[in-house]
Amino acid sequence: MIQDNITQVQDNIRRACERVGRDPGEVTLIAVSKTKPVEDIREAMQAGQHLFGENKVQEIVEKSPALPDAHWHMIGHLQRNKVKYIIRQVEMIHSVDSLRLAHQISSEAVKANVQMPILLEVNVAREESKFGYLLEEVEAQLIEIARLPGIQVRGFMTIAPFVDNPEENRWVFRKLHDFSVDMKAKNIDNVVIQELSMGMTNDYEVAVEEGATMVRVGTGIFGNRERRIF
Ligand SMILES: *Cc1c(COP(=O)(O)O)cnc(C)c1O
Repeated sequence: MIQDNITQVQDNIRRACERVGRDPGEVTLIAVSKTKPVEDIREAMQAGQHLFGENKVQEIVEKSPALPDAHWHMIGHLQRNKVKYIIRQVEMIHSVDSLRLAHQISSEAVKANVQMPILLEVNVAREESKFGYLLEEVEAQLIEIARLPGIQVRGFMTIAPFVDNPEENRWVFRKLHDFSVDMKAKNIDNVVIQELSMGMTNDYEVAVEEGATMVRVGTGIFGNRERRIF
């Protein structure tokens, strides 16, 4: 089941790329395994999927020792006092939403002697319920965060609104893509804008059409979760 789902999602990504003349090699699928057991992740790995997204520190800490060949991205809201538990476990943090968090990641990365790639989370649709910077805040923050040692800003992430028709989110993805093009043109030191993490089960095809380089798909691979967790 999980293996078929992965094949299906990859086909959909490829077709979305074809529709807009993109190379499917530009899009990385992140299988969001939150709330799912290690056995499900193993099944995904048998289908060739090695990159997983989690949104809770504790789940990464619990699952990663059992899965030495898996690669992990932290995609959820991160508390500063928990950064130390994942600094060696994850290869990217998608959800940087404050200068204080960036400082903490920086100091833990320096301590652990790693360079941590990060994305700044942007609340493009200005939803009260969501974390992330408002678009107009991002540039100033980017300049501050870029000065910190131990981290490298690689781009932006957004969680689009929950909608019935994914077309309703097209403007969100387009807006973040346009913004990333603008930021890239500024050539800020220590900032390499190359990733746009956007699109989930409901809307990843639209996100790919609009320039996503990473899509985060959970339900579409592992099936429904008992609770909706963000
Ligand atoms: C849960 C989650 C996803 C995946 O959501 P699905 O709708 O199940 O694909 C993607 N991104 C973040 C940040 C999440 O928390």
